[in-house]
Amino acid sequence: MRITIFGSGYVGLVTGACLADVGHDVICVDIDSDKVAALNDGQVPIHEPGLETIIRHNLEAGRLRFTTDAARAVEFGLLQFIAVGTPPDEDGSADLQYVLQVARTIATHMQEYKVIVDKSTVPVGTAEKVNACVSETLAERDATLAFDVCSNPEFLKEGAAIEDFSRGARIVVGTDSDRVRQAMRECYAPYSRLHDKLIFMDVRSAELTKYAANAMLATKISFINEIANLAEKLGADIEHVRHGIGSDPRIGHHFIYPGCGYGGSCFPKDVQALARTAHEVGHPPQLLEAVEAINLRQKDQLFAKLESAFDGDLAGKTIALWGLAFKPNTDDMREAPSRALMASLWAAGARVQAFDPEAQDECWRLYGERDDLSLCKRRDEALEGADALVICTEWKAFRTVDFSVLKKTLASPIVIDGRNLFEPASIKQAGLDYYAIGRGDSL
Ligand code: NAD
Repeated sequence: MRITIFGSGYVGLVTGACLADVGHDVICVDIDSDKVAALNDGQVPIHEPGLETIIRHNLEAGRLRFTTDAARAVEFGLLQFIAVGTPPDEDGSADLQYVLQVARTIATHMQEYKVIVDKSTVPVGTAEKVNACVSETLAERDATLAFDVCSNPEFLKEGAAIEDFSRGARIVVGTDSDRVRQAMRECYAPYSRLHDKLIFMDVRSAELTKYAANAMLATKISFINEIANLAEKLGADIEHVRHGIGSDPRIGHHFIYPGCGYGGSCFPKDVQALARTAHEVGHPPQLLEAVEAINLRQKDQLFAKLESAFDGDLAGKTIALWGLAFKPNTDDMREAPSRALMASLWAAGARVQAFDPEAQDECWRLYGERDDLSLCKRRDEALEGADALVICTEWKAFRTVDFSVLKKTLASPIVIDGRNLFEPASIKQAGLDYYAIGRGDSL
C-alpha cells in the first residue's frame, strides 16, 4: 500500500518506519529540510530505541523515503497521515495551525481520491474542520474531487514507541465510511493478525478516546502523588500503600508510581486541552483541573525539600542532578520535572551539575552555555563537589549506585529522590540523609 505521512517527529517517524517495515511503501514529508536530509542519510534526530535500525533497513530496501516535496508526497499515497504537532495555545487549547496547514497542502496538490488520516492528537470536531478546510481549498481550485477524513489517534509511548506501535493493545479508527474502513484494515492488517485490534467508531468518539486515555493516565499519577504527599504527613510509606492497592485487580499496578510529577509532550498539554474543551461546552472540568494543579505542585516538591534541607538558603550551593529527560529511554525534556527544578534552583542562586544518559544534547540545545549549569559526562562526575544529589528520572543506571561513593563524594550527605529508587533503610544505613516521595520522612 502507498502511504504518505506529514510530519517526521516522534509519531510520524515511528509510524512511517513501522509501516515500511511491514512492507508498505512509505513517503514521509517534513518542512524541516535539515531533518529530511539527515533522515535520508539514515541519521535519526531523536533517541528512540530500535528506530534508527528500522529506518536504515527500510531506506536501503527502498520502502521508505523522506522529502520536503509536498506535491510529490500528496500524489504518492492513498492514505495521507497527518502527524504534525498540536502544541498548546496561550489558553491551553490545542493549536491546530499545523494540522490545517497540512490539510490545505493536501487539497492544493491532490488529483484523485485521498483518505486523510488524522494521527495528531486533536480536539473533538477537528476532523470537521479539516474537512471544511480541504473543501474550501478544492473549491478555490475549482476542483471536484472526493476525499474522506478519518481519525486514527496514536497511543505510543516515547521510549517504547516501536513496541507500542507494533504490538499495541488497540488501533482506534473514527470513520463512518466503508471505503475508509477497508483502506485502514489493509494498512493495519500486519498488526492485527492474531486478533482484530481495530476498533471502529464515529470520528468524534475516536478524537475523544485519545484525550480520555491520556487524562486517565495523568489522573492515576496525580492520584498516587496526592496519596504520597498524605503518606508523608501521616508517617506512612507510599510504596507499601502502592503495593497494597495495586494488588486489587480493579486498580492494578500500572501507572501508580509516585514521583516528581508527569511531563513530556502529551499529558500536560492534553489534560489542559481537554479541560479547555470542557469549558467551551459549559462543563466545568473539576477533576481535570485538580489533576493538573496537583501535578504542578508535585513538580515543586523536590525544590521544596532541598530548601528545607538547606534551611531556605540555596545561594551558592551546587546541586548534582541525575536525570534530565521527562522519563527514561528518551532524550525528550519537554515539560520535564528537571526543568522546573533547575529554574527554581537558578532563581535561588544555586548551581546545577547534571547528568543524563541521553538528554545531555537536548539540555545543551535548550539552555546553552551558562555559569550555573555544568553538563557532566559521567553519572559520578556530577557528584564531585556537590552539596546534595537530586534524582529526577528513573534511569536504570541510577539504581546501581554505591552508597559509600555517594557518602564520600557529596559535600553534605543529602539525597533527594524524586523517583523512589532506593530502600530508605539501606541508604540511611550508609550515613546519607535520604528523602524520597511519600516515604514517611517529610522534609
Ligand atoms: P513533533 O513536534 O516531534 O514533530 C512534528 C513534526 O511535524 C516536526 O518535524 C515538524 O517539522 C513537522 N511539521 C510541522 N508542520 C508541517 C507541515 N506543514 N508539513 C510537514 N511537516 C510539518 O511532534 P510529535 O511528538 O511527533 O507529535 C505529533 C502529534 O502526535 C501531536 O499531536 C502529539 O500530541 C501526538 N502524539 C504524540 C506522542 C508522543 O509521544 N510524542 C504520542 C501520541 C500522540
